[in-house]
Amino acid sequence: MTTSEDSLPLSPLVDPFQRSISYLRVSVTDRCNLRCVYCMPEQGIPFVPRQEILSLEEVARVVRVAAGMGLRRVRLTGGEPLVRNGIAKLVRWIAETPGIEDISLTTNAMVLASYAHELAAAGLKRVNVSLDTLRPERFRQITRYGDLAAVREGIAAARDAGLAPIKLNVVVMREVNDDEVADIARTTLTEDWEVRFIELMPFMDEQETCIKDTSLVLGFVPTQDVRRQIEEALGPLEAAQTTTGGGPASYYRLPGARGLIGFISPLTESQFCATCNRMRLTAEGKIRPCLLTDHEVDLRQTLRSGGSDDDLRARILLALNTKPDAHHLWDGNRPRQRKMIQIGG
Ligand code: SAM
Ligand code: SF4
Repeated sequence: MTTSEDSLPLSPLVDPFQRSISYLRVSVTDRCNLRCVYCMPEQGIPFVPRQEILSLEEVARVVRVAAGMGLRRVRLTGGEPLVRNGIAKLVRWIAETPGIEDISLTTNAMVLASYAHELAAAGLKRVNVSLDTLRPERFRQITRYGDLAAVREGIAAARDAGLAPIKLNVVVMREVNDDEVADIARTTLTEDWEVRFIELMPFMDEQETCIKDTSLVLGFVPTQDVRRQIEEALGPLEAAQTTTGGGPASYYRLPGARGLIGFISPLTESQFCATCNRMRLTAEGKIRPCLLTDHEVDLRQTLRSGGSDDDLRARILLALNTKPDAHHLWDGNRPRQRKMIQIGG
C-alpha cells in the first residue's frame, strides 16, 4: 500500500444532493445462523453460490480504493458476518487500510463470545447487536432458532474485549415486542450500552410476515408511539449525543442513566434521507446506494475481469452519482429485489 494518509482527500465522495458519503456497510455473506421473522422468510431464500460471493481480498480491495476516494468508516454485516470464514483477517486488512478511521460490525451475537477478543485484536472498534426482546421464549420465536443466553454471553465477551460502546438494535413490532420497549429502555439505567429502537422496514410480502403457529402478523410501530410508551413508564427523555456520531439515530437519555436510548425512524423522520451518509456493498459485489431502493451498480465484473483501480473508482462514482435523494416507501415503492438478509441492514 503506497498511498500516504496525507495525500488522501478529505471527503470528495459527495452525492448529487450534497450529502457527504464517508461510510460503507459491507455485507460479507448472505448466510445466517438465524431466521428472524422480519429479515428472512421462513422457507429461506436461495443462497448465492459461493463462487459468486466476493473473496475477502476482493472486499479489501474495494475498501482500499474507496478509502482513497474519501471513505472513512466501514461496518461489516451479513447475513450474519460471524459465519464468514476469515472474518478477523478481513477486519485486520480493513483496519490497516490508510484512511479508514472506524471499523465496526453488526451481529446477532450468537457466536460472538468465541470471536470478540480475536476481532478486537484485529482492530475492530465496536459491535451492534440485534436484540429485540429480553425474554428467551420470545427471542426464539422472533429469531426462529436463537438462544438468548448465547447472545448475552456474546455481549459480555464484547464488553470484556473492549468493543465499546455496545449498541443494541431493537426492531419494534406491534403485538410481537412492543409491550417490552419500556423494559428494554430501563436497562440503560444500569448498563452503559446504547439501545436503538428501529422502525420496521417493509422488505417482506404480507403473507411472509406472520410468525408461524401464532396469529401474529408483523405490524409497524412509529417511533412516536415507542417514545410515548417509554416516557409514560419511565419519565421524560433528555436529548443526548452518542460518542460515535454520524448515524441515523436520534439519541436521548433517561435522567441519571448510564446508557443511551436512540430512535431510528426511516419511515417517520422527515430528515432521515437528507442526512444519509452511506452506501452498501452486497456480498456478491453490488454497490447499493440506498438501502430502500433496488438500484445497484455491479463491481464484481470489474474486479474479476482485470479492471484497474481507476475502473473501480468509476463504478463507485457511478453508484454515488445515482444515489436517490430519498426512499419512496410512502408511495408504495418498497425494495423487492432483495430481502434484508441479502443487504445487511
Ligand atoms: N445478522 C446481523 C444482525 O442480525 O445483527 C447483521 C445483519 S441484520 C440484516 C442487520 C440489522 O438489520 C439488524 O439489526 C436487524 O434487526 C435489522 N433488520 C433486519 N430486517 C429489518 C427490517 N425489516 N426492518 C428493520 N430492521 C431490520
Ligand atoms: Fe440473520 Fe441478522 Fe437477518 Fe436475523 S436480522 S435473520 S440474525 S441477518
